[in-house]
Amino acid sequence: MRKPIIAGNWKLNNTVKEAVELTNGLKEGLKNLNESSLPEVVIAPVFTSLYSVNELIKNDSKISLGAQNCYYKDNGAFTGEVSVPMLQELGVKYIIIGHSERRQYFSETDEMINEKAKAILAKGLIPIICCGETLEQREAGVTDSHIASQIKKALDGLSTEDIAKSVIAYEPIWAIGTGKTCDSVEANRVIKMIRETVKEVSNSQAADSIRILYGGSVKPNTIEEQMAQSDIDGALVGGASLKADSFIGIIEGTMKVRA
Ligand code: PEP
Repeated sequence: MRKPIIAGNWKLNNTVKEAVELTNGLKEGLKNLNESSLPEVVIAPVFTSLYSVNELIKNDSKISLGAQNCYYKDNGAFTGEVSVPMLQELGVKYIIIGHSERRQYFSETDEMINEKAKAILAKGLIPIICCGETLEQREAGVTDSHIASQIKKALDGLSTEDIAKSVIAYEPIWAIGTGKTCDSVEANRVIKMIRETVKEVSNSQAADSIRILYGGSVKPNTIEEQMAQSDIDGALVGGASLKADSFIGIIEGTMKVRA
């Protein structure tokens, strides 16, 4: 049985003070929820808030810390980068890689994403590997081949054990931050196709274990239908993770379906 994950990607939002307030709001909201049926809850603030947020959650088993990016070298002459051991020192357990915004605005390639996945897993952390198609690719009928290619390149050279531990987020780019969610049945179909691709490059045990999330305008009023699908193991949430109420609403919706 795969434990669901609800991960909040705060993107380039929140000063340290605001991040602390949001984290406290989440802790307060989670207090009333039964821990045994909670999904894994991950929050990914900007790098500059990681230390302060970790101070608030390091003794709280209900929330794990995530980062939005990393570099794949441990140290050296790579101005402006942050490495996996540095993030680990701050309590980070999950690292989002290959988000479409990083691919689009920071030229992150499939090869770099693969290097990052290897570096993260080598240190015992968990990558959340993002994939997804543009609207043009969907309309041209190349969604599946594009995503299968992204996944094969991201997982290249990883052991089956490491693949089994990893997390994938299917995020159709046209659904990110637009208020347009992908139809749940269609999202489930693509996610099943991703699971088949994982099986092809590893084995069925890894394909059954890997958690595959949906991302793209997830809200409290969409999550129940999404989580009712056979292969959707949770959500990567952008906008709706920036308010404690809506993020808690998504967690509660998940618990209703997958308690
Ligand atoms: C995201 O940033 O990964 C995302 C899915 O954003 P939103 O929920 O705002 O669409």
